[in-house]
Amino acid sequence: MTELSPATAVPAALWCDRCGESVAAGPHPACAAARALEPPRWCASCRRRMKVQVVPTGWSAVCVEHGERRG
Ligand SMILES: [Zn+2]
Ligand SMILES: [Zn+2]
Repeated sequence: MTELSPATAVPAALWCDRCGESVAAGPHPACAAARALEPPRWCASCRRRMKVQVVPTGWSAVCVEHGERRG
């Protein structure tokens, strides 16, 4: 039996997933607005460039470390 706390299961978002800059100082409103229309480019957890594909339902972005996100 393993018990994972949510804090360790989901890494905190440290980086903006659109511009790749730190969000430690606060969110990026311009990026958040653009992200409503665009897929992310950077992994918010590790700042790796994600492999982005447009799919019929929207998009799919894969980080080699953190797996796939869909939107
Ligand atoms: Zn940003
Ligand atoms: Zn990642």
